[in-house]
Amino acid sequence: MIDVHCHLNFHSFEKDSEEVAERAFSEGVSLIINVGTKIDSSQKAVDIAQKDDKFYAIVGVHPHHADKHDLESNWLEELEVLTKQPKVVAIGEIGMDYFSYQSNGIVDPSLQKEIFEAQIELASKVGLPIQIHNRLAGKDVIEILKHHKNLLRDKPGMFHCFAGDMEVLKNALDLGFYIGFDGNSTYPGLAPKETVSLSDLAKATPLDRIVTETDSPFLTPIPYRGSRNEPSRVIIVGQHLAQLKGISFEEFDAISTQNAKDLFGI
Ligand SMILES: [Zn+2]
Ligand SMILES: [Zn+2]
Repeated sequence: MIDVHCHLNFHSFEKDSEEVAERAFSEGVSLIINVGTKIDSSQKAVDIAQKDDKFYAIVGVHPHHADKHDLESNWLEELEVLTKQPKVVAIGEIGMDYFSYQSNGIVDPSLQKEIFEAQIELASKVGLPIQIHNRLAGKDVIEILKHHKNLLRDKPGMFHCFAGDMEVLKNALDLGFYIGFDGNSTYPGLAPKETVSLSDLAKATPLDRIVTETDSPFLTPIPYRGSRNEPSRVIIVGQHLAQLKGISFEEFDAISTQNAKDLFGI
């Protein structure tokens, strides 16, 4: 299994990231991709990838940080420098987020759009796929992607932690995107403000477009929900998805691993 989206570069793994990674590798995870959400966490993801064969990095600025004043600096140039580092396989996590967070509510959508579009353009310039974060903003994300269709690659990237309705899924697939599912696909019922369950969305996603992720330290699958998540649990995600698809875990593992390798060229 490959965890195509996690954050061992975050503060919550400061003390034991090596132990956590070892546990994942010993339990059958072959590769881990750490993802940045701003310049410093992107740099950290790159640093980790350069120290260990089994790590790759994705660098970018998350929509949640679109209003931070450090964006008045030359963040885009700094990001471009990072994209050229060895083992950087995509630009992400980038996108739109209309969830109202306790810390800063909903960041001005026009600022979110501005940095999303700038990073789509950068991805085209440097020849990398994109890893998209979308929360409750599927319609706008699709509209922005369609508007920039000429900048998208043949394998344009993936939606990480997919959620939305069947229309968003269909559009994402039509544009050529892969679809990532996490431990929250094991939760019963619907997430707040969502209309289609993650299990139904996973069932509707073709096997040759599914990739697996944990978004550690978040989205811990059942039965560990409530504790800090870690990449070893991508195996639980794989088992759940295999069951939904009615195939063996081994078959699902082989297909989803190959999907990630094809997408990121690793
Ligand atoms: Zn995200
Ligand atoms: Zn994330």
